[in-house]
Amino acid sequence: MHRFFVPQPYGETMTITGVDARHIYTVLRMQTGTKVQIVSDDGVSAVAEIAEANENAVTVRCLEVIAESHEPAVRITLAQGLAKGEKMDFIIQKAVELGVSEIVPMAMEHSVVRLEGDKAAKKVERWQKIAEAAAKQSKRDIVPKVQPVQTVTQMLANNLCECKLIAYECEDKLGLKTALQRQTELRELLLIIGPEGGIAESELQQALAAGALGVSLGKRILRAETAALVAAAAIFYETGDLGG
Ligand code: SAH
Repeated sequence: MHRFFVPQPYGETMTITGVDARHIYTVLRMQTGTKVQIVSDDGVSAVAEIAEANENAVTVRCLEVIAESHEPAVRITLAQGLAKGEKMDFIIQKAVELGVSEIVPMAMEHSVVRLEGDKAAKKVERWQKIAEAAAKQSKRDIVPKVQPVQTVTQMLANNLCECKLIAYECEDKLGLKTALQRQTELRELLLIIGPEGGIAESELQQALAAGALGVSLGKRILRAETAALVAAAAIFYETGDLGG
């Protein structure tokens, strides 16, 4: 069943507009009576049926609230060093499928890509759309937010997670698994992953000073996109959110 995020509080009747309305009406050609899933902006998911549809607006009648949550027990914020080309698109899409709750693209010292001003804002808009599509497809109950591009300093100032992990390729003492097992009541976690060029010493020091633990993802050097997704998957596996 197709799932749509409707930016309105939950109500018995809701109206889907914009791109989604056009998609339902002209691409999917859904008729009156077709069932869809909706998620309201106050986080209620429900099965609904199309009551009326045109290109600009689709009115649905909600039939049944879906009680089961599709969200993981641990809320991961992925702070990802800007990676080249379409790699960020890939990381965002897959991270959302896995269950990551928020993504912070970071302009890091060793990022090959430079994104500023308008160009950065346009990219974030595009990444937000990718996140929404992935959230629909994977039946998330939220659309993970893609934050504006920021430096490590800004990201650390904005993030209040008690548990912060920075995946560092030169770390040889603390492994991800041990770091996770040391946490009591893990509810939220900040996961920092470097760009292709790696994490600069000054960035590592800032993260450590902010309370982050440097963790190893094993003895092989993973590419940025592999590291982000493997680390997220391993955390969800450990917390039982990946088929526990
Ligand atoms: N340019 C670096 C590798 C960067 S890999 C080099 O050639 O040495 C990109 C990012 O993935 C790293 O900054 C780190 O955050 C993460 N990463 C990759 N492999 C890792 C590992 N074995 N342990 C911890 N982090 C790793």
